[in-house]
Amino acid sequence: MKTTPSHLARFEQTQVWQNGYEDDPAWREKHRVMEAMLPEEVRSVLDLGCGEGSQALLLASTYRVVGADASGAALRRVTVPSVRAWSQSLPFASQSFDVVWASELLEHLPDEALAPTVAEMQRVAGSWLMISVPFREHLRLRQSRCTTCGGRFHIYGHVQRFDVSRLRREMDPYSLRSWAFCGPPEKRYHPVLLRIRQLLGGKWFCYPPAHPVCPHCGSSEQDVGHGNRIARWCDRLDQSLQTSSVGLARPRWLVTLWEGPGLA
Ligand SMILES: [Zn+2]
Repeated sequence: MKTTPSHLARFEQTQVWQNGYEDDPAWREKHRVMEAMLPEEVRSVLDLGCGEGSQALLLASTYRVVGADASGAALRRVTVPSVRAWSQSLPFASQSFDVVWASELLEHLPDEALAPTVAEMQRVAGSWLMISVPFREHLRLRQSRCTTCGGRFHIYGHVQRFDVSRLRREMDPYSLRSWAFCGPPEKRYHPVLLRIRQLLGGKWFCYPPAHPVCPHCGSSEQDVGHGNRIARWCDRLDQSLQTSSVGLARPRWLVTLWEGPGLA
C-alpha cells in the first residue's frame, strides 16, 4: 500500500478504534436494522471500511465475513479474516461476495475516491450492496479548527453529504431495494448563526475523544476555546429558534440495500 494520505492520519491512531461502539444502544440499533435488511440468500459479506471490526464480528455468527480497511491500526483489532486495502482498489476477484457492506465509509471519501470505490464495490459484489451513511449531515456543524495552521476540518473527517437521491445517482446502475432511517435525532444549528458563531464568535466544534488530526498540517492541536460574547449570543438565539420550530429533527443515519442490474 502507498503511504497513508493526510486525511486518513487520524485512523492510524490506536485510540480512535477503542471506541466502545458495541456498548452504544444507537450503534447496536443501526447494526440490527442493517443486518435485518440483508436478503435471505446472502451467505458471504465483505465489510468494507470495517474499522475495528465490531460489525464484522456480529455478522460472523451468521455469514462468511471478510473485513477490509485502509487502516493498519484498525485491522490489529479485527478478529475475523481481514485485508488491508484502499476502497478504490480491492484485492478480490469480481463477484467474490454476495454483498459488499459499507457502514459509515462513503462520507469519508474525497471526490476523486468516491466513484472508483462504488465501482469496486459493484465489481466485487455482483449482487447486493448494503450502505449506511449519515443522513443529510450538516457538515459544518462538526467543523473543528486547527490551532497550528488555522485550517478547518470535520472532526471525524466527513467530506460527503448524502440523501436518497444522491445515493441513487452514485449507485447507478444498482437500484434501491429497501431503506430505513435510524439513530437518535441529529443535532441542528441554524446555518447562518453557526457561521457567525465560528467566524466571529471563535467557537468551533471540539471533542477531544475523537482524537482529531488536522488534514492540512497533521497537527492534533484543536481549538478548544468556548468562544466570545458573539458565540454565546448565537447559542441563545439558536436555542430560541429551535424551541419555536417544529419538525426540524432529522434522523442520524440512512440505511440502504441496493440490487445489482443482473438480478432485476
Ligand atoms: Zn493544521
